[in-house]
Amino acid sequence: MQRFTYVRPADAAEAVRAMAAAGPGTRFLAGGTTLYDLMKLNVETPASIVDINSLAELDTFDTSGSSELIFGALARMSDVAADPTLIHDYPALSESLWRAASPQLRNMASLGGNLLQRTRCAYFRGGEPFACNKRKPGSGCAAQDGINRGHAILGGSDACIAVYPGDFAVALAAFDAKIDVLGPGGERTIALEHLHREPGNTPDIETVLGPNELIARIRVPVTPLGRASTYHKIRDRESYAFALASAAVALRMSGNTVQDARIAIGGVATRPWRAREAEQTLVGRILTPDAARLAGETALKGAKATPDNRFRVELAVRTIVDALMIARQRA
Ligand code: SF4
Repeated sequence: MQRFTYVRPADAAEAVRAMAAAGPGTRFLAGGTTLYDLMKLNVETPASIVDINSLAELDTFDTSGSSELIFGALARMSDVAADPTLIHDYPALSESLWRAASPQLRNMASLGGNLLQRTRCAYFRGGEPFACNKRKPGSGCAAQDGINRGHAILGGSDACIAVYPGDFAVALAAFDAKIDVLGPGGERTIALEHLHREPGNTPDIETVLGPNELIARIRVPVTPLGRASTYHKIRDRESYAFALASAAVALRMSGNTVQDARIAIGGVATRPWRAREAEQTLVGRILTPDAARLAGETALKGAKATPDNRFRVELAVRTIVDALMIARQRA
C-alpha cells in the first residue's frame, strides 16, 4: 500500500487551504466510492488526502425555494433521490440518481463526487501494461483499436474515446444547472454544461476545475419543465450498470404541441451532452413518434462509431424517442 498523509479540515475554506498546502497529488475525499476503487487498482495514488466528510455546511439540500433547488456537494445520492419534491416535480433528477448505482453506493456517494466520477474504460482502470493517455499522458489509447463496445460515439478524439459515466450530471445539464466552486481566490460559478471537458489532446484534464477548487453546491433553476421529465437509461442489465445510452428529457406542452423541450444524453459521449439542435426540432410541433425520431437523429448527428459500438447510435436515437414519449405522458 502506498502511504499518504490525511487531514480532516473543520470547514470548506480550511479544506481548500489544506489542498493548496499539500500540493499536487492531493485528493479530496467525500463518499470515497470512486477514489477508494481507483486506489485499490493503483490508478489513483494520492500523496495526501483531504477528508471533507465532516463539513456540515456542504451536507444539506433544499428543494423548497421559489427560484432555485440547492444541493450541497456532500448531500448523499439516496437522500436526494428520495426527496418528495424532486420525485414529483423533477422526476428526471430523482430517476438519474436512483438508477445510478446500488443502494449501498447511493447511501455513501456524494453529489459532488458523483459529478466527478471517472471513466469506466477498462484500459484506464486496468493500469499497466495498457496504453492510456488519460492515466499516463502520451502513452496512447488502447481503446481505439481494442475493445470499445462501450466507448464514446460523440465528443471523442484520437487521444481518447472514454465515455463520461455519470447519470446525474446528464440530468442536470438538461435543467441548466450551475455549480458553485470554492478555490483559494474565493467562490465562482460554472454552468454544469461547461464543467466537463472533451478529451482533445489532453484527456487527463477532465474538468475546468482548478487544482485546488472544491465543488460547494449545485443549483438548479426552478422550472415548469420539471414535471414532464424523465431520465431514461438503457443498460446491459436492468440494475446497477452503467448506461449504454441514456436521455434526460423535459417538456412543456400546450395540448399536443411542444412549447419547450430539453434533451441531454449520456452513456454515449465524453461529457454530459446537451442536444440543443434536437430540442429546437420539437418546439412548435406536435409530438408524434416521427417528430421524436427526428429529434433523436438530430441529437446523434455527427456520431463517430467503431464497428463494435455502431449499434449504440441507433440505440441512443431510440432511447431519446422513448424518453420523449415517457415525458409526454407526464405533461
Ligand atoms: Fe485511456 Fe481514454 Fe483510451 Fe480509455 S479511451 S484507454 S481512458 S485514453
